[in-house]
Amino acid sequence: MNIDKTKPVLVTGATGYVAGRLVERLLQEGLTVHAAVRDPENNIKTAPLKELESKSSGSIKFFKADLLDKGSFDQAAEHCELIFHTASPFIRNVKDPQKDLINPALEGTRNVLETANRTNTMKRVVLTSSCAAIYGDAVDLKQAPNNTLTEEIWNTSSSLEHQPYSYSKTLAEKEAWKLASEQNNWDLVTINPSFVIGPGINPNGTSESFSIFKQIGKGDFKMGAPEMNIGCIDVRDLAEAHYRAGFTPEAKGRYIISSEDTGFLQLASVIRKKYPNYPIGTKKVPKWLLWLIAPTVGMTRSEVSKNIGYPWHASNEKSVRELNMTYRPVEQSAVEFFQFLIDGGQIKKR
Ligand code: NAP
Repeated sequence: MNIDKTKPVLVTGATGYVAGRLVERLLQEGLTVHAAVRDPENNIKTAPLKELESKSSGSIKFFKADLLDKGSFDQAAEHCELIFHTASPFIRNVKDPQKDLINPALEGTRNVLETANRTNTMKRVVLTSSCAAIYGDAVDLKQAPNNTLTEEIWNTSSSLEHQPYSYSKTLAEKEAWKLASEQNNWDLVTINPSFVIGPGINPNGTSESFSIFKQIGKGDFKMGAPEMNIGCIDVRDLAEAHYRAGFTPEAKGRYIISSEDTGFLQLASVIRKKYPNYPIGTKKVPKWLLWLIAPTVGMTRSEVSKNIGYPWHASNEKSVRELNMTYRPVEQSAVEFFQFLIDGGQIKKR
């Protein structure tokens, strides 16, 4: 199944951090991007995309659409053969997880896929899922074969009360596979990234990726960092993975997109080495202490118990084998991301 590159391509959530680099990649190829955004009049969010357009051979057309507004993606999908569905809230501290996370993720995915069903040109949907749909807590890796996360595994431990963001991504991806199996017009490929870092196209982003690096820059980890192990992926490599998932006819199923296994301690050390003027501790905060202060640092005690001090390992082999992915080293992405946030005024210059 080949996607016709003369046809427009729909990107939902085009003003987001991850989507920005994807739109850039599509414009570089000379494609026409239908950018579905909540507020096309918001120039702070759309200007960086328009600037990319002016430097590329591609073109961009904005459409107003909201995940919770049924049918609002229809116009943007007209004549498209491919949708990249990236829109979904990535916020950790929410008041009402059902309203703020689950509904936009789940109903939004349904909404976009129903649009795909109504668009008779549609051939493929690439959904930005997450490693959060693969595991809930680091302790879950003990149950994984070889203690390694693979595309075979699903998150079974998150709920509305515990890790609701991960729960939202799990429900949304499951729903996507269900809806994909109920029709024969388009196929579904999911991208399951680990924690995304690296310079985006707009330093004023609100993604949770920004929050953690800004915390590091502000000195929130000056007494040390939690021993929280995670995987990281550069936002530019993630854009490439989306692009390849969209345009590789044989792409199939889920793809874990993750460069390296790392952790907050390693990230803090790498940044500290390059930016010695910043108040960044590189010692490990004891788990018992973190457990005690958890609510004051935006974590629950249960999250601390189940995520601190456990190893993390995911296999990106399927992406290398089938999408021919290569990955930037995490160290480079971390340093370039920190510098990007300094240059953009999000982290104070020191
Ligand atoms: P982001 O910058 O906050 O992007 C989220 C996008 O979703 C924004 O464009 C936002 O629109 C849009 N959105 C949220 N609610 C919406 C609604 N009700 N209607 C329409 N659009 C809505 O975060 P991101 O990091 O780029 O995340 C993009 C995708 O990657 C998400 O699916 C996320 O789950 C996934 N992901 C991210 C990471 C990571 O570490 N960053 C890791 C794994 C997976 P506005 O611009 O109008 O706010």
